[in-house]
Amino acid sequence: MLNPAMETALNDQIREELTSAYSYLAMSGYAEAANYRGIAHWLKAQASEELGHALRFCGYVYDRGGKVTLQAVAQPQAEYASVAEVFEQVLAHEQKISEGIYQLYSLAGHEKDYASYPFLQEFISEQVEEEKSAADVLALIRMAGGSTQALLMLDRELGRRGA
Ligand code: MG
Repeated sequence: MLNPAMETALNDQIREELTSAYSYLAMSGYAEAANYRGIAHWLKAQASEELGHALRFCGYVYDRGGKVTLQAVAQPQAEYASVAEVFEQVLAHEQKISEGIYQLYSLAGHEKDYASYPFLQEFISEQVEEEKSAADVLALIRMAGGSTQALLMLDRELGRRGA
Protein backbone atom coordinates (compact mmCIF):
# COMPACT_ATOMS: atom_id res chain seq x y z
CA MET A 1 0.00 0.00 0.00
CA LEU A 2 1.23 3.43 -0.92
CA ASN A 3 1.75 5.79 2.00
CA PRO A 4 0.00 9.19 1.84
CA ALA A 5 3.19 11.26 1.45
CA MET A 6 4.31 9.17 -1.52
CA GLU A 7 0.83 9.22 -3.03
CA THR A 8 0.79 13.04 -2.88
CA ALA A 9 4.31 13.35 -4.33
CA LEU A 10 3.53 10.89 -7.15
CA ASN A 11 0.37 12.86 -7.98
CA ASP A 12 2.47 16.03 -8.11
CA GLN A 13 4.86 14.28 -10.50
CA ILE A 14 1.94 13.25 -12.74
CA ARG A 15 1.04 16.96 -12.94
CA GLU A 16 4.67 17.81 -13.85
CA GLU A 17 4.76 15.19 -16.62
CA LEU A 18 1.46 16.50 -18.01
CA THR A 19 2.82 20.06 -17.73
CA SER A 20 5.81 18.90 -19.81
CA ALA A 21 3.51 17.39 -22.44
CA TYR A 22 1.43 20.57 -22.56
CA SER A 23 4.49 22.84 -22.84
CA TYR A 24 6.07 20.77 -25.61
CA LEU A 25 2.81 20.75 -27.51
CA ALA A 26 2.67 24.55 -27.25
CA MET A 27 6.29 24.78 -28.41
CA SER A 28 5.42 22.49 -31.30
CA GLY A 29 2.66 24.91 -32.27
CA TYR A 30 5.13 27.80 -32.24
CA ALA A 31 7.51 25.81 -34.47
CA GLU A 32 4.69 24.91 -36.88
CA ALA A 33 3.72 28.56 -37.20
CA ALA A 34 7.37 29.47 -37.84
CA ASN A 35 7.55 26.78 -40.59
CA TYR A 36 10.04 24.60 -38.73
CA ARG A 37 8.04 21.44 -39.42
CA GLY A 38 10.82 19.06 -38.37
CA ILE A 39 11.29 20.79 -35.02
CA ALA A 40 7.51 20.82 -34.59
CA HIS A 41 7.47 17.06 -35.24
CA TRP A 42 10.28 16.48 -32.71
CA LEU A 43 8.46 18.50 -30.05
CA LYS A 44 5.16 16.74 -30.74
CA ALA A 45 6.89 13.36 -30.36
CA GLN A 46 8.38 14.66 -27.09
CA ALA A 47 4.94 15.78 -25.88
CA SER A 48 3.63 12.29 -26.61
CA GLU A 49 6.54 10.75 -24.67
CA GLU A 50 5.73 12.96 -21.67
CA LEU A 51 2.11 11.86 -21.79
CA GLY A 52 3.49 8.31 -21.73
CA HIS A 53 5.50 9.19 -18.59
CA ALA A 54 2.37 10.57 -16.90
CA LEU A 55 0.51 7.36 -17.76
CA ARG A 56 3.34 5.21 -16.35
CA PHE A 57 3.16 7.17 -13.08
CA CYS A 58 -0.65 6.73 -13.01
CA GLY A 59 -0.24 2.99 -13.58
CA TYR A 60 2.31 2.79 -10.79
CA VAL A 61 0.02 4.59 -8.32
CA TYR A 62 -2.79 2.15 -9.23
CA ASP A 63 -0.46 -0.88 -8.92
CA ARG A 64 0.33 0.21 -5.37
CA GLY A 65 -3.31 0.60 -4.44
CA GLY A 66 -3.14 4.42 -4.49
CA LYS A 67 -5.45 7.02 -5.95
CA VAL A 68 -4.69 9.34 -8.86
CA THR A 69 -6.11 12.84 -8.40
CA LEU A 70 -5.43 14.97 -11.47
CA GLN A 71 -4.46 18.57 -10.77
CA ALA A 72 -4.77 21.72 -12.87
CA VAL A 73 -2.09 22.15 -15.51
CA ALA A 74 -0.93 25.73 -16.10
CA GLN A 75 -1.40 27.36 -19.49
CA PRO A 76 1.92 27.05 -21.33
CA GLN A 77 3.87 29.89 -22.94
CA ALA A 78 2.68 30.22 -26.54
CA GLU A 79 5.22 32.59 -28.07
CA TYR A 80 9.01 32.29 -28.19
CA ALA A 81 11.72 34.59 -29.49
CA SER A 82 13.50 31.79 -31.37
CA VAL A 83 13.94 28.03 -31.61
CA ALA A 84 17.04 28.52 -29.44
CA GLU A 85 14.80 29.87 -26.67
CA VAL A 86 12.47 26.88 -27.12
CA PHE A 87 15.28 24.38 -26.55
CA GLU A 88 16.79 26.40 -23.68
CA GLN A 89 13.42 25.98 -22.02
CA VAL A 90 13.15 22.28 -22.91
CA LEU A 91 16.54 21.67 -21.28
CA ALA A 92 15.71 23.77 -18.19
CA HIS A 93 12.39 21.97 -17.90
CA GLU A 94 13.97 18.50 -18.10
CA GLN A 95 16.51 19.52 -15.43
CA LYS A 96 13.61 20.53 -13.20
CA ILE A 97 11.87 17.19 -13.88
CA SER A 98 15.07 15.34 -12.94
CA GLU A 99 15.20 17.31 -9.68
CA GLY A 100 11.58 16.31 -8.94
CA ILE A 101 12.39 12.64 -9.49
CA TYR A 102 15.44 12.86 -7.21
CA GLN A 103 13.19 14.36 -4.54
CA LEU A 104 10.72 11.51 -4.99
CA TYR A 105 13.59 9.05 -4.61
CA SER A 106 14.72 10.79 -1.40
CA LEU A 107 11.18 10.76 -0.08
CA ALA A 108 10.87 7.04 -0.86
CA GLY A 109 13.97 6.48 1.30
CA HIS A 110 12.64 8.72 4.07
CA GLU A 111 9.28 6.91 4.05
CA LYS A 112 10.98 3.49 3.81
CA ASP A 113 9.03 2.92 0.59
CA TYR A 114 11.75 0.74 -0.89
CA ALA A 115 9.30 -0.78 -3.37
CA SER A 116 9.35 2.54 -5.26
CA TYR A 117 13.11 2.44 -5.84
CA PRO A 118 13.18 0.30 -9.01
CA PHE A 119 10.32 2.26 -10.60
CA LEU A 120 11.98 5.60 -9.84
CA GLN A 121 15.39 4.34 -10.96
CA GLU A 122 13.94 3.77 -14.43
CA PHE A 123 13.00 7.44 -14.52
CA ILE A 124 16.38 8.54 -13.19
CA SER A 125 17.96 6.76 -16.18
CA GLU A 126 15.26 8.10 -18.49
CA GLN A 127 16.10 11.66 -17.39
CA VAL A 128 19.76 11.21 -18.34
CA GLU A 129 18.51 10.57 -21.89
CA GLU A 130 15.97 13.41 -21.79
CA GLU A 131 18.54 15.96 -20.67
CA LYS A 132 21.05 14.70 -23.21
CA SER A 133 18.66 14.89 -26.18
CA ALA A 134 17.56 18.44 -25.25
CA ALA A 135 21.17 19.54 -24.72
CA ASP A 136 22.23 17.96 -28.06
CA VAL A 137 19.58 19.85 -30.04
CA LEU A 138 20.38 23.10 -28.21
CA ALA A 139 24.09 22.66 -28.99
CA LEU A 140 23.30 22.18 -32.70
CA ILE A 141 21.04 25.25 -32.77
CA ARG A 142 23.82 27.30 -31.15
CA MET A 143 26.32 25.95 -33.69
CA ALA A 144 23.98 27.04 -36.48
CA GLY A 145 24.39 30.53 -35.03
CA GLY A 146 21.37 32.01 -36.78
CA SER A 147 22.26 30.62 -40.22
CA THR A 148 18.92 29.84 -41.89
CA GLN A 149 20.55 27.20 -44.06
CA ALA A 150 22.03 25.38 -41.05
CA LEU A 151 18.74 25.63 -39.15
CA LEU A 152 16.79 24.20 -42.10
CA MET A 153 19.21 21.25 -42.28
CA LEU A 154 18.73 20.66 -38.56
CA ASP A 155 14.97 20.99 -38.99
CA ARG A 156 15.03 18.26 -41.65
CA GLU A 157 17.07 16.01 -39.39
CA LEU A 158 14.78 16.48 -36.36
CA GLY A 159 11.82 15.71 -38.62
CA ARG A 160 13.15 12.14 -38.93
CA ARG A 161 12.67 11.40 -35.24
CA GLY A 162 10.73 8.16 -34.77
CA ALA A 163 7.58 8.07 -32.66
MG1 MG B 1 9.05 13.12 -18.55
